[in-house]
Amino acid sequence: MARRIAICVGLSVALAAASPDVTHAQTAQAVLQAAAQAMGTNTLRCVTYTGAGYVGLVGQNYDIRDDWARVELASFTRTINFEQRAAREERVIRQGSYPARGGGGIPIQGEQRQIQLVSDKFAWNVQGTNTVPQPAAAELRQLDLWLNPHGFIKAAMAPGANPILITRYESGALGGLSSVPMRRLNIISITVLGKYRVNGTINDQNLVERVQTWIPNPVRGDMNQEGEYSQWRDVSGVKFPGNFHHHTDWDDETQPPNYNGGHNSLTFNVKDLRVNDCGEPITVPQEAQKATIPPVQVQTTKLAEGVYYLAGQSHHSVAVEFRDFTVLVEAPQNEPRALAVIEATYKAIPNKPIRYVVNSHHHFDHLGGIRTAFHEGATIVTHHSNRDFYKQEVLTYAPRTLEPDRLSLHPPTEFAEGYQLETIQMKGTISDGTRNLDIYYVQGSPHAEGMVMAYLPRERILIEADIFTPPAAGAQMPATPPPAAVNLYDNIRAYRLDVQTIAPLHGRVVPFAEFLKFIGKSGTN
Ligand SMILES: [Zn+2]
Ligand SMILES: [Zn+2]
Repeated sequence: MARRIAICVGLSVALAAASPDVTHAQTAQAVLQAAAQAMGTNTLRCVTYTGAGYVGLVGQNYDIRDDWARVELASFTRTINFEQRAAREERVIRQGSYPARGGGGIPIQGEQRQIQLVSDKFAWNVQGTNTVPQPAAAELRQLDLWLNPHGFIKAAMAPGANPILITRYESGALGGLSSVPMRRLNIISITVLGKYRVNGTINDQNLVERVQTWIPNPVRGDMNQEGEYSQWRDVSGVKFPGNFHHHTDWDDETQPPNYNGGHNSLTFNVKDLRVNDCGEPITVPQEAQKATIPPVQVQTTKLAEGVYYLAGQSHHSVAVEFRDFTVLVEAPQNEPRALAVIEATYKAIPNKPIRYVVNSHHHFDHLGGIRTAFHEGATIVTHHSNRDFYKQEVLTYAPRTLEPDRLSLHPPTEFAEGYQLETIQMKGTISDGTRNLDIYYVQGSPHAEGMVMAYLPRERILIEADIFTPPAAGAQMPATPPPAAVNLYDNIRAYRLDVQTIAPLHGRVVPFAEFLKFIGKSGTN
């Protein structure tokens, strides 16, 4: 008896070892076929759906502990043509009743219409009658097609997809705790576009209720991106969700300590749905076919002895020379930008290390280069309210598989020793005994909590980001001054700064008098 059991166990182990992949693949196929059947995916060639809801602007929260800055999605229309691997999306956003604080471009003036397209590996926007190629956005827009519930099933059933089945019990995904009965769910895991691990959760009604993946982000690395699909309805034999709810980054802000609250990036209810009736096929305009990603540029201008304005296409930096080292104000956007700015700094100020990088605020477009600057040897100087987020979730050892940067490829030793940041409360000064660079907390800024500005008292140059961006030379001054600029004026007064020149990190360098005109004041401060 004992012997027979031993033989049986031995046999079953041998069988399982011989063909575990075949068994799993067949089961995954069965799960996918049941889902395709229930959802009508095989008959769906294209779909157009409209809706309304809200958009969360990723990386633009007012306080790093808040959710993404939210604006109203007044209307939304999307056509996906799965056979063509193409999509067209039109959004109209406006501030609506959402709080007008924080975020690039917030409050939104009036309504903004955004028309974004993708077809295979080409992406472009339409502005009025103009085509604006978006080569850098093509891959993620293409990925997005396969995060749609039907797109996911199609991708997982495509030849060579090699889907993996994972089965588990789940209770918490609906936001409930012990009152939610545990459900047995099937997760199908595939690789999309040869690179992105995509996981679709299929429920007991054979509907795709969640699709999750990671997308590369200069601040967050492999950043969580997921869609939850609910309120399913039946239209012409195809089941489609009535509600889309997307997270960008983890929904973890309820767990103290809260370093980083941003997660809700898009929610809308579907109003109209058209199945297999999508009009003209999407054709790729000539401009979009020819477009390539423009190279990073730095234009160096000397503002004063040892002070250099390093202008970019959209985001600028300022390099300041000290006796034995250099200070860089801002390392924005991403690693390619940071490397170009670092190179331009060494060219303007040779043979000195960049000892400090002053970071103006936590918005991702101003933060995306600090990992590279830190790797280069700089200590990051910022407001103390940003400390936990930068230390725990930005300057981290975590691997980055989608777009590895220098810090993820090579962790320097001082990283482990923990010295990465210097923080200020109200004011800090970097000095070599002759030159001072003062860093001030911008009190009560409506743009972002934890905002700082930098001031060179001898040269009387103020460096700031996002709270005053001068309009193009000769352009009209605003009828009502933006609250963030008025608040900057109050801060300049409160700190008794005798500013002569403003070197903004967007726009262009202007005399202080032009700032006064901008906020509707004239004469002196
Ligand atoms: Zn900002
Ligand atoms: Zn900005």
